[in-house]
This record gives sequence, C-alpha cells and structure tokens, in this order.
Amino acid sequence: MRGMRFSKTFIKTLRTAPKDEAAKNGALLTRAGYIHKEMAGVYDYLPLGLRVIENIKRVIREELNKLGCEEVQMSALQNPEPWEKTGRFSDQEVDIWFKTNLSSGGELGLAPTHEEPITNMLKSYISSYKDLPLYVYQFQTKFRNELRAKSGILRGREFLMKDLYSFHTSEEDLDRFYAEVEKAYGRIFARLGIGEDTYETFASGGIFAKYSHEFQTVLPVGEDTIYYNTDKSIVLNKEVYNNEVLEDLGAAGEKFEETTAAEVGNIFKLKFKYSEPLELKYIDEENKQQTVYMGCYGIGVSRVMGVIAEKFADDKGLVWPEEVAPYKYYLVGIGENGMAEAEKFYAGREDTTLFDDRKARPGEKFADAELMGLPYRIVISDKTLAEDAAEVTDRRTGESQMVKLADLAKF
Ligand code: ATP
Ligand code: MG
Repeated sequence: MRGMRFSKTFIKTLRTAPKDEAAKNGALLTRAGYIHKEMAGVYDYLPLGLRVIENIKRVIREELNKLGCEEVQMSALQNPEPWEKTGRFSDQEVDIWFKTNLSSGGELGLAPTHEEPITNMLKSYISSYKDLPLYVYQFQTKFRNELRAKSGILRGREFLMKDLYSFHTSEEDLDRFYAEVEKAYGRIFARLGIGEDTYETFASGGIFAKYSHEFQTVLPVGEDTIYYNTDKSIVLNKEVYNNEVLEDLGAAGEKFEETTAAEVGNIFKLKFKYSEPLELKYIDEENKQQTVYMGCYGIGVSRVMGVIAEKFADDKGLVWPEEVAPYKYYLVGIGENGMAEAEKFYAGREDTTLFDDRKARPGEKFADAELMGLPYRIVISDKTLAEDAAEVTDRRTGESQMVKLADLAKF
C-alpha cells in the first residue's frame, strides 16, 4: 500500500464533533478522517479507515488460513429460491431484509448473511465423502435494515463481516473443527489488541447444540449484557443466565457479576439446519447418501474497528493497537532542517509512515497526531537535530524519548 503525505491527501481532520453523531466511535473516527457518514448506519471508509479494515482482515485471514480455510467472495445479491426453502425469505421470519425488484420481473434480496447461498452453491462441489471436510470463508458486505442504527460503526445497516462455514461428514469432525476455530478466535482477538477484554460466552444454541458461543468485548456502550464468575472462567449471555444453565455448567451458587459488552463474533454448530432443507448431501464410504454437517463462524469486521476505536480512545483522540493502526509512525518535521531530515526518513518508509508535511503550526500537527492515534509520533526539529536525534512519543503512554537518527531506522 502507498504511503500518505498529509499535504497531498484529501483527508481533513475536524476540530469539533459532527452534530448528527451520538456515538463516540463514529464521532472520533469522523473527526480523525477515517470514515464519512452517508446516513444513519451507513458509512464510507476513507483511506485511513480502509487501512484499518484491511489490517483487521489480514489478521483474521492469516489465522483462518492456518486452519486450512479457503477464501471466496459470494454475491451480495440474493436469489430468493434457496431462502424460501429454509423459510428465511419471509419478512415475518427475518425482519431486517432489504429487498428490491428486478426490472425484468422478480424479486431479489441484499444478503444479510450467507448460509443459504453457500449451502446451495456447494451442492455443485460436494458429492462424496472425499470432498469433505471443507472450510470456506469470505469478507463480504452485509445489508440489514436494523431498526436502531445509532451506535456509529458498531451497528451498521451496511457492514463488513467475515463469515466462515464448515462442512463435515460427522458430528465429531464438526466438534473438532469448532474447537480449532475457538482457539483461532482467541488468537485473532489477542492480535487485534482486545484479547484481555474479550470473553467467549455461552449463548442460546438454537435447535441442535445446547449452546452457541459468542465473543463479547467488555465495553460501556455495548448493547449486550454478560455475566461472569469471580475468576471469569464462566461467562454467560443474558438469555442463558438462569439457574438451570448455571447448574448445567457446574456453577450453581457461584457469584456472578454483570457488565455490558459488544458482540464481536459468534460460532454455531448448525448440524443439518441448512443442509437438510437445501439438500446438501454426500455419498459415504458404504455408498449411502448422507446429509452434510455444518458449522458457521462470524466476526463483525467493521464492528471490531468501532470497538477498538471506542475502547482505547482518550480525551485527545484515537489510540490504535499496532497490528490495527493504519500507519505505525506519524512523522513531523519542524523548520527547514527538520523537514529535510524528515523527508530522508520518509523515503522508503511510505508503508509504515504518515508524513505530516503540511505548512502548519507544530501545535496543529501534534493535535492531529493525537486525534489520529498512530502508535508513535516522530518529531525532527532543530532542537532534536542538535542531539543528532528525533523525539519519539508513544501515543498510548504519552512517554517521549530521544532516539539517535542512526538508530531510528531500527526503532
Ligand atoms: P447482533 O446481536 O449484534 O445484532 P447478530 O447476532 O445479528 O448480532 P450475526 O448475524 O451472527 O450477528 O453476525 C455475525 C457478527 O456480525 C456479529 O457477531 C457482529 O459482530 C456482527 N454484526 C451483526 N450485526 C451487525 C451490524 N448491524 N453492524 C455491524 N456488525 C454487525
Ligand atoms: Mg442482529
């Protein structure tokens, strides 16, 4: 990816919060030039915001590919047919559909999720036990006519999801892969900087499995309520927080505390929920026809970005964890000599550095550096050059240190 010179980009930071944005994540991301609001729940991602999204995708992709998952991209336009087979095209059944008509006649929907089309698609590719297991995922825009979209990018009417679907010949194999995804999710959220505050919770499981699991990040403005015991080894969603479930989990009589959280991901053992109505079958080793076992595993990519923005921000602006930050360095040159040295540093580091080369006061640049929240601010001025050094400030701790120019490359 190309670098960014502040003087050349169309990005502008705003001194004050936009009027129509109640959510902290939305207001800060807008002020700092990451996103632009089209309307409630609908956002554009600007160059900085897109880099954050791409970083989150990269981390997820790396961890899923380790499990042997294959990436695809399915259409967002939905043929009603497979959805009618599961009963989910009906607005009574699924109340968040965006639908439209084809000019040639007939209806289509904008995908709120992809269980039906992927199950349907794989009928063309799965016929034998030799074709299984199979793990297929995508990063795709989902459309949902959400009633309330007042939480910035935490709840969009259009949002980016990673959705993974797994296909197996047995329940044991589904269980095995499910456990692998649980671990991969742990690694993903740790790398994204929210590992410590993200809990795998017991959630209501639907028809087959007793529970599904959600990944919930503790957040004051989170829309969900979760309950955790003293050592946080058992965490439950509100809908399963009752005596019967506590007994089932061997936690009857334990003390639980309540907190709010945002759901960043979830995993489900679907078993035959979609493969049966859509007739996704295979021929087993005894030449008998069997139904394919399925699981599905989501992560709200754009919601994760909002959670990170919301969670780490301070009174000066955003604070990005390193794996997620659009650039690692915010580079400021002050005065003619400082600018010349900064240019030298920038050459060859366009991938990691945002260069604030504007003709603006240092104070203005420092304020923007804090607002944008890149991990390190590098300032080169006559004062630092007198020590043959640059001043490097850690955005999170606010601590500064002088680093010799010769060592800056290694820093
Ligand atoms: P929620 O309870 O928050 O509405 P959901 O149960 O509808 O979520 P899924 O359909 O399972 O969620 O979607 C998978 C993931 O996508 C969720 O875990 C969440 O992180 C994210 N997500 C769901 N709805 C939205 C939305 N409207 N905007 C942004 N992200 C979303
Ligand atoms: Mg929902």
